[in-house]
Amino acid sequence: MKILVAVKRVIDYNVKARVKADNSDVDLTNVKMAINPFCEIAVEEAVRLKEKGVASEIVAVSIGPKACQEQIRTALALGADRGIQIETEASPNSLSVAKLLKAVVDEEKPDLVLLGKQSIDSDNNQTGQMLAALAGYPQGTFASEVNVEDGSAKVTREIDGGLQTVELKLPAIVTTDLRLNEPRYASLPNIMKAKRKPLAVKTPAELGVEISSTLTTVKVEPPAERQGGIKVGSVEELVEKLKNEAKVI
Ligand code: AMP
Repeated sequence: MKILVAVKRVIDYNVKARVKADNSDVDLTNVKMAINPFCEIAVEEAVRLKEKGVASEIVAVSIGPKACQEQIRTALALGADRGIQIETEASPNSLSVAKLLKAVVDEEKPDLVLLGKQSIDSDNNQTGQMLAALAGYPQGTFASEVNVEDGSAKVTREIDGGLQTVELKLPAIVTTDLRLNEPRYASLPNIMKAKRKPLAVKTPAELGVEISSTLTTVKVEPPAERQGGIKVGSVEELVEKLKNEAKVI
Protein backbone atom coordinates (compact mmCIF):
# COMPACT_ATOMS: atom_id res chain seq x y z
CA MET A 1 0.00 0.00 0.00
CA LYS A 2 1.31 3.41 -0.98
CA ILE A 3 0.63 6.53 1.12
CA LEU A 4 0.98 10.08 -0.16
CA VAL A 5 1.40 12.72 2.56
CA ALA A 6 1.04 16.44 1.86
CA VAL A 7 3.33 18.60 4.00
CA LYS A 8 3.26 22.39 4.06
CA ARG A 9 6.00 24.83 5.06
CA VAL A 10 4.53 27.32 7.52
CA ILE A 11 5.65 29.81 10.16
CA ASP A 12 6.75 27.88 13.29
CA TYR A 13 3.88 27.73 15.78
CA ASN A 14 6.11 29.11 18.57
CA VAL A 15 6.80 32.31 16.64
CA LYS A 16 4.68 35.41 17.24
CA ALA A 17 3.60 36.48 13.76
CA ARG A 18 4.29 40.09 12.69
CA VAL A 19 2.44 41.98 9.98
CA LYS A 20 4.38 43.83 7.23
CA ALA A 21 4.43 47.62 7.60
CA ASP A 22 2.26 48.05 4.48
CA ASN A 23 -0.34 45.54 5.82
CA SER A 24 0.02 43.46 2.66
CA ASP A 25 0.92 40.18 4.39
CA VAL A 26 2.56 38.48 7.35
CA ASP A 27 6.26 39.39 7.55
CA LEU A 28 8.31 36.22 7.11
CA THR A 29 11.74 37.89 7.00
CA ASN A 30 14.18 35.90 9.16
CA VAL A 31 11.30 33.99 10.74
CA LYS A 32 11.70 30.34 11.78
CA MET A 33 9.68 28.09 9.47
CA ALA A 34 8.55 24.52 10.14
CA ILE A 35 6.39 21.67 8.92
CA ASN A 36 2.70 22.44 9.56
CA PRO A 37 1.87 20.61 12.87
CA PHE A 38 -1.15 18.78 11.39
CA CYS A 39 1.04 17.61 8.47
CA GLU A 40 3.58 16.29 11.00
CA ILE A 41 0.74 14.24 12.54
CA ALA A 42 -0.09 12.96 9.01
CA VAL A 43 3.55 11.89 8.47
CA GLU A 44 3.59 10.15 11.87
CA GLU A 45 0.40 8.24 11.04
CA ALA A 46 1.86 7.13 7.70
CA VAL A 47 5.05 5.96 9.44
CA ARG A 48 3.02 4.01 12.04
CA LEU A 49 1.06 2.31 9.23
CA LYS A 50 4.37 1.35 7.61
CA GLU A 51 5.75 0.06 10.91
CA LYS A 52 2.60 -2.09 11.32
CA GLY A 53 3.29 -3.59 7.89
CA VAL A 54 0.11 -2.03 6.42
CA ALA A 55 1.93 0.47 4.18
CA SER A 56 4.94 -0.29 2.02
CA GLU A 57 5.87 3.17 0.69
CA ILE A 58 5.42 6.74 1.91
CA VAL A 59 5.79 9.67 -0.49
CA ALA A 60 5.90 13.20 0.97
CA VAL A 61 4.83 16.07 -1.29
CA SER A 62 5.12 19.80 -0.75
CA ILE A 63 4.17 22.75 -2.91
CA GLY A 64 6.23 25.89 -2.51
CA PRO A 65 9.59 27.57 -3.08
CA LYS A 66 12.91 25.67 -2.94
CA ALA A 67 12.99 26.26 0.82
CA CYS A 68 10.09 23.82 1.31
CA GLN A 69 12.57 21.02 0.55
CA GLU A 70 13.58 21.51 4.20
CA GLN A 71 10.11 20.31 5.31
CA ILE A 72 10.21 17.41 2.83
CA ARG A 73 13.59 16.41 4.33
CA THR A 74 11.99 16.55 7.79
CA ALA A 75 9.28 14.15 6.57
CA LEU A 76 12.00 11.91 5.10
CA ALA A 77 13.85 11.97 8.43
CA LEU A 78 10.64 10.97 10.22
CA GLY A 79 10.26 7.93 7.95
CA ALA A 80 8.94 8.88 4.50
CA ASP A 81 10.73 7.06 1.64
CA ARG A 82 10.90 9.74 -1.03
CA GLY A 83 9.81 13.30 -1.66
CA ILE A 84 8.27 15.42 -4.38
CA GLN A 85 8.53 19.20 -4.43
CA ILE A 86 6.28 21.15 -6.75
CA GLU A 87 8.23 24.32 -7.19
CA THR A 88 6.44 27.67 -7.20
CA GLU A 89 7.33 31.09 -5.81
CA ALA A 90 3.64 32.05 -5.78
CA SER A 91 1.45 31.24 -2.78
CA PRO A 92 -1.15 29.08 -4.51
CA ASN A 93 -4.65 29.12 -3.04
CA SER A 94 -6.28 25.91 -1.76
CA LEU A 95 -7.95 25.04 -5.06
CA SER A 96 -4.62 25.32 -6.92
CA VAL A 97 -2.92 23.18 -4.24
CA ALA A 98 -5.72 20.61 -4.54
CA LYS A 99 -5.35 20.57 -8.36
CA LEU A 100 -1.58 20.05 -8.05
CA LEU A 101 -2.09 17.27 -5.51
CA LYS A 102 -4.68 15.70 -7.82
CA ALA A 103 -2.06 15.66 -10.61
CA VAL A 104 0.38 13.92 -8.23
CA VAL A 105 -2.37 11.45 -7.24
CA ASP A 106 -2.94 10.65 -10.94
CA GLU A 107 0.80 9.96 -11.39
CA GLU A 108 1.48 8.14 -8.12
CA LYS A 109 -1.84 6.32 -7.65
CA PRO A 110 -1.59 6.14 -3.83
CA ASP A 111 -4.04 4.01 -1.85
CA LEU A 112 -4.27 6.61 0.90
CA VAL A 113 -3.65 10.37 0.89
CA LEU A 114 -3.00 11.93 4.29
CA LEU A 115 -3.21 15.69 4.79
CA GLY A 116 -3.41 17.96 7.81
CA LYS A 117 -6.92 19.15 8.62
CA GLN A 118 -5.68 22.72 8.26
CA SER A 119 -2.63 24.89 7.72
CA ILE A 120 -1.85 26.98 10.78
CA ASP A 121 -0.86 29.97 8.63
CA SER A 122 -3.90 30.36 6.38
CA ASP A 123 -6.38 28.35 8.53
CA ASN A 124 -8.23 27.32 5.38
CA ASN A 125 -9.28 23.76 6.25
CA GLN A 126 -10.32 22.98 2.69
CA THR A 127 -7.48 21.40 0.66
CA GLY A 128 -8.26 17.79 1.66
CA GLN A 129 -11.95 18.25 0.94
CA MET A 130 -11.23 19.85 -2.46
CA LEU A 131 -8.79 17.08 -3.36
CA ALA A 132 -11.41 14.44 -2.47
CA ALA A 133 -13.91 16.15 -4.76
CA LEU A 134 -11.42 16.50 -7.65
CA ALA A 135 -10.18 12.90 -7.34
CA GLY A 136 -13.64 11.45 -6.68
CA TYR A 137 -12.26 9.70 -3.56
CA PRO A 138 -14.13 9.24 -0.27
CA GLN A 139 -12.91 11.45 2.58
CA GLY A 140 -12.56 11.16 6.33
CA THR A 141 -11.73 14.56 7.78
CA PHE A 142 -10.61 15.52 11.34
CA ALA A 143 -9.37 11.99 12.02
CA SER A 144 -8.57 11.03 15.62
CA GLU A 145 -8.17 7.31 14.80
CA VAL A 146 -7.38 5.51 11.55
CA ASN A 147 -7.52 1.75 11.02
CA VAL A 148 -6.71 0.32 7.61
CA GLU A 149 -7.78 -3.23 6.79
CA ASP A 150 -8.88 -5.22 3.74
CA GLY A 151 -8.95 -2.33 1.27
CA SER A 152 -10.82 0.05 3.52
CA ALA A 153 -10.06 2.64 6.18
CA LYS A 154 -12.14 3.10 9.34
CA VAL A 155 -11.76 6.70 10.40
CA THR A 156 -12.98 8.09 13.70
CA ARG A 157 -13.74 11.77 13.24
CA GLU A 158 -13.90 14.52 15.83
CA ILE A 159 -17.22 16.27 15.32
CA ASP A 160 -19.19 18.73 17.46
CA GLY A 161 -20.38 16.91 20.55
CA GLY A 162 -18.66 13.58 19.97
CA LEU A 163 -17.02 11.11 17.64
CA GLN A 164 -18.23 9.69 14.34
CA THR A 165 -16.76 6.61 12.66
CA VAL A 166 -16.87 6.31 8.89
CA GLU A 167 -15.64 3.50 6.66
CA LEU A 168 -13.94 4.55 3.42
CA LYS A 169 -13.18 2.29 0.50
CA LEU A 170 -9.56 2.85 -0.61
CA PRO A 171 -8.21 4.86 -2.33
CA ALA A 172 -9.28 7.59 0.07
CA ILE A 173 -8.39 10.96 1.57
CA VAL A 174 -7.90 11.42 5.31
CA THR A 175 -7.18 14.69 7.10
CA THR A 176 -5.62 14.57 10.56
CA ASP A 177 -6.80 16.15 13.81
CA LEU A 178 -4.67 16.96 16.83
CA ARG A 179 -5.42 13.85 18.89
CA LEU A 180 -4.60 11.28 16.17
CA ASN A 181 -1.08 10.74 17.49
CA GLU A 182 1.94 12.41 19.03
CA PRO A 183 4.64 12.82 16.39
CA ARG A 184 8.12 11.48 17.18
CA TYR A 185 11.30 13.52 16.95
CA ALA A 186 13.66 12.73 14.09
CA SER A 187 16.89 11.11 15.32
CA LEU A 188 20.25 12.46 14.15
CA PRO A 189 21.11 9.30 12.14
CA ASN A 190 17.70 9.52 10.41
CA ILE A 191 18.26 13.23 9.62
CA MET A 192 21.56 12.23 8.00
CA LYS A 193 19.95 9.32 6.11
CA ALA A 194 17.16 11.63 4.88
CA LYS A 195 19.71 13.70 2.96
CA ARG A 196 20.30 10.74 0.64
CA LYS A 197 16.65 9.84 0.05
CA PRO A 198 15.27 10.73 -3.41
CA LEU A 199 13.55 14.09 -3.85
CA ALA A 200 12.04 14.92 -7.25
CA VAL A 201 11.32 18.50 -8.28
CA LYS A 202 8.45 19.27 -10.66
CA THR A 203 6.72 22.44 -11.82
CA PRO A 204 2.98 23.14 -12.02
CA ALA A 205 3.41 23.44 -15.84
CA GLU A 206 4.91 19.93 -16.01
CA LEU A 207 1.85 18.67 -14.16
CA GLY A 208 -0.41 20.60 -16.56
CA VAL A 209 -1.88 22.77 -13.78
CA GLU A 210 -2.53 26.50 -14.14
CA ILE A 211 -2.21 28.10 -10.68
CA SER A 212 -3.26 31.69 -11.32
CA SER A 213 -5.36 32.85 -8.38
CA THR A 214 -8.85 34.26 -8.39
CA LEU A 215 -8.32 35.49 -4.85
CA THR A 216 -6.63 38.71 -3.72
CA THR A 217 -5.61 39.48 -0.15
CA VAL A 218 -6.92 42.96 0.51
CA LYS A 219 -5.34 43.64 3.90
CA VAL A 220 -3.65 41.84 6.78
CA GLU A 221 -4.00 43.30 10.27
CA PRO A 222 -2.75 42.09 13.66
CA PRO A 223 -5.47 41.39 16.25
CA ALA A 224 -6.41 44.33 18.49
CA GLU A 225 -4.11 44.69 21.49
CA ARG A 226 -5.74 43.23 24.60
CA GLN A 227 -5.75 45.37 27.72
CA GLY A 228 -4.28 43.88 30.87
CA GLY A 229 -6.63 42.60 33.56
CA ILE A 230 -7.08 44.23 36.96
CA LYS A 231 -7.74 42.92 40.47
CA VAL A 232 -10.76 44.32 42.28
CA GLY A 233 -10.89 44.76 46.02
CA SER A 234 -14.48 43.70 46.68
CA VAL A 235 -17.66 42.28 45.17
CA GLU A 236 -19.18 45.78 45.28
CA GLU A 237 -16.29 47.17 43.22
CA LEU A 238 -16.65 44.28 40.72
CA VAL A 239 -20.38 44.92 40.30
CA GLU A 240 -19.76 48.64 39.94
CA LYS A 241 -17.16 48.04 37.17
CA LEU A 242 -19.30 45.50 35.35
CA LYS A 243 -22.20 48.00 35.42
CA ASN A 244 -20.46 51.29 34.67
CA GLU A 245 -17.19 50.41 32.85
CA ALA A 246 -17.82 47.16 30.99
CA LYS A 247 -21.56 47.90 30.81
CA VAL A 248 -22.40 44.19 30.70
CA ILE A 249 -24.95 44.09 33.52
P1 AMP B 1 -5.50 24.12 4.28
O1 AMP B 1 -6.68 23.69 3.48
O2 AMP B 1 -4.68 25.20 3.62
O3 AMP B 1 -5.87 24.50 5.70
O4 AMP B 1 -4.48 22.89 4.36
C1 AMP B 1 -4.86 21.60 4.75
C2 AMP B 1 -3.75 20.64 4.39
O5 AMP B 1 -3.52 20.65 2.97
C3 AMP B 1 -2.36 20.92 4.99
O6 AMP B 1 -2.25 20.44 6.32
C4 AMP B 1 -1.47 20.12 4.03
O7 AMP B 1 -1.53 18.73 4.32
C5 AMP B 1 -2.17 20.38 2.69
N1 AMP B 1 -1.54 21.56 2.02
C6 AMP B 1 -2.01 22.82 1.96
N2 AMP B 1 -1.13 23.63 1.29
C7 AMP B 1 -0.07 22.83 0.95
C8 AMP B 1 1.17 23.04 0.28
N3 AMP B 1 1.52 24.25 -0.19
N4 AMP B 1 2.01 21.99 0.11
C9 AMP B 1 1.67 20.76 0.58
N5 AMP B 1 0.52 20.50 1.23
C10 AMP B 1 -0.35 21.52 1.41
